[in-house]
Amino acid sequence: MTDQGQPAWRAKQVMDWLYLKRVDSFEEMSNLPKTLRNQLADSFELHPLKVITIQKSQDGTVKFLFGLTDGHAIETVIMRHQYGISVCVTTQVGCRIGCTFCASTLGGLKRNLTAGEIVAQVVMAQKHLDSTNERVRSVVVMGSGEPFENYDATMHFIRIINDSSGLHIGQRHITVSTSGVVPNIYRFADENWQVGLAISLHAPNQDLRSSLMPINRRYPLAELLDACWYYLEKTGRRLTFEYALIGGKNDQDEHAHELGKLLQGMNCLVNLIPVNYVPERNYTRTPRKQIFKFKRILESYQVNTTIRREHGHDIDAACGQLRAKHSQLIQT
Ligand code: SF4
Repeated sequence: MTDQGQPAWRAKQVMDWLYLKRVDSFEEMSNLPKTLRNQLADSFELHPLKVITIQKSQDGTVKFLFGLTDGHAIETVIMRHQYGISVCVTTQVGCRIGCTFCASTLGGLKRNLTAGEIVAQVVMAQKHLDSTNERVRSVVVMGSGEPFENYDATMHFIRIINDSSGLHIGQRHITVSTSGVVPNIYRFADENWQVGLAISLHAPNQDLRSSLMPINRRYPLAELLDACWYYLEKTGRRLTFEYALIGGKNDQDEHAHELGKLLQGMNCLVNLIPVNYVPERNYTRTPRKQIFKFKRILESYQVNTTIRREHGHDIDAACGQLRAKHSQLIQT
């Protein structure tokens, strides 16, 4: 507002219109002078996202494919849990990290999203929920992209959605997930926030992790764990480790024992995720019985473990699937 030659207090009015009243145009911001409304409309894009498709699952999961102003497409998901509604946001168009079980990385990285484009995903999700008087309770930064490769925009996004004049989502209700960009784990720990951190681990040793996640060659497992210990000591928060179970690859008893030994004594939670089938990769699902055995073995090392409930099994739920289909359609 100061840049626009306005008193700073006008910012609060604009935030009210954007995040509380969630209007569709600057024109509707009726307590702003007409000249300012025109000025804002000339300088800013109020709608950085256009809905391309919405898929609804029987379990209440809603998946959006949004078009950006430059023609790229991204995905955002609303999930319903017992504790409330969460939204999973995307931070990059595509991803360059190259995890072998992930569809989002197949076309590489196209570009980083701006903080505004990330915030807009939550606003659009909330607008969708307004019709049923529901509210976004938590946000997970776990969609396509590596948030710590788009660090500044991700932090800016968190500040906006957490702000009491913004969407006012509590820090403890926000979780960021990284594949292990070690320097930014230290940076994130030093932000001194109560925002949760999840690490995509997926393997209990250096060689196996490198074969599944090329980033492990750049930031080896031992360095990643050092950064995790730093985060735990600095924040006093519990850390989550995501572990995608891939049939025959990383889901055997020996892997569970190795993982148990690795994480024993850490204030952490392991979240086991039976992999979604990605047609481009030939990964099979872990049998149900083995998923439970894997959990029991980890618990024998006093490592807290949960099995992620699947959302939207009847729609394109794995991140990147809907976008990949969309770009195939455009190319053919
Ligand atoms: S899992 Fe995440 S970090 Fe890995 S390739 Fe997919 S989007 Fe990128």
